[in-house]
Amino acid sequence: MSELLSVVVPCFNEQESIPLFYAAMEQVRNKLPLDFEYVFVDDGSCDQTLVELRKLAHDRSNVHYLSFSRNFGKEAALYAGLSHTHGDYITMMDVDLQDPPELLIEMYAKIQDPQIDCVGTRRVTRTGEPKIRSFFAKMFYRIINRIGQTEMVDGARDFRLMTRQMLDAILELKEVNRFSKGLFTWVGFNTVYLEYENRERVAGTTSWSFWKLFSYSIDGIVNFSDAPLNIASFVGALSCIGSVIAMLIIIFRTIAYGDPTSGWPSLVCIFLFIGGIQLLCLGIIGKYIGKIFTETKKRPIYIVRETDQQDKNKND
Ligand code: UDP
Ligand code: MG
Repeated sequence: MSELLSVVVPCFNEQESIPLFYAAMEQVRNKLPLDFEYVFVDDGSCDQTLVELRKLAHDRSNVHYLSFSRNFGKEAALYAGLSHTHGDYITMMDVDLQDPPELLIEMYAKIQDPQIDCVGTRRVTRTGEPKIRSFFAKMFYRIINRIGQTEMVDGARDFRLMTRQMLDAILELKEVNRFSKGLFTWVGFNTVYLEYENRERVAGTTSWSFWKLFSYSIDGIVNFSDAPLNIASFVGALSCIGSVIAMLIIIFRTIAYGDPTSGWPSLVCIFLFIGGIQLLCLGIIGKYIGKIFTETKKRPIYIVRETDQQDKNKND
């Protein structure tokens, strides 16, 4: 019996892409000595995505789907899909064909090396993407790699092929605030990256607005770095030292020159400056407390409304 590859596919309003994706994958399946198992996750779509998935799963025993009760986000969809896989190898792919299925052949060849546990993919170009988005993405990787404890590879996609052993390690991490790119590095194991040119999506539109991406990148920083907290303490300490020096200067000047009281505009500026720093630091601390708050509530990462699988309520 050949080994099993589980393909996890998050879908959010992707009715047009699903048949195209499946057809492209079947082409690749014929070139690999593997059995395929598909786990599609409908992340609370408002279009006909679920209908497409039902249709696909109806007469194919190796296609399964989970449908969420609302949109829980791509991270939740990935987690749900991954925890319902049975394969010896597992891959996660976007349904819009921006992750080229034919790369799987090369990825599979690489993972045959027992030293390699995961083959990731990396876009070396970002053609077709708005300039401003590429710019902020670059900035994000620069910042997170400088201040974070976990290295994140610029341009790395969620598209990767990994062994069951590595996936089990990932599923051990039960945090609610999930930032996959970081989690995959955090668990360790040997990952190699394949590089490829960016592709544009086959159908539909991206569901990531600029703000959604922005807040996702803040999540990435807060989840994998406590540097912002250190920066807050550092700025506080700096301002403290600055004020002591200023005090000494003023005392010295008053003794030496008998300076009359003056300069209330500068006082106002200083108040505003210090007040601003305090609010900023409170905001940073608040971000971390917010994360602790959501983690301690221990709400499920996703809620399944419909599935073709038996273990519907499995949510761990
Ligand atoms: N997606 C999802 N839930 C969301 C947003 C996106 O499951 O809330 C899925 C989407 O259907 C696609 C993948 O995540 O399969 C990547 O999304 P998209 O192509 O919109 O992102 P981009 O490629 O533009 O980064
Ligand atoms: Mg895409």
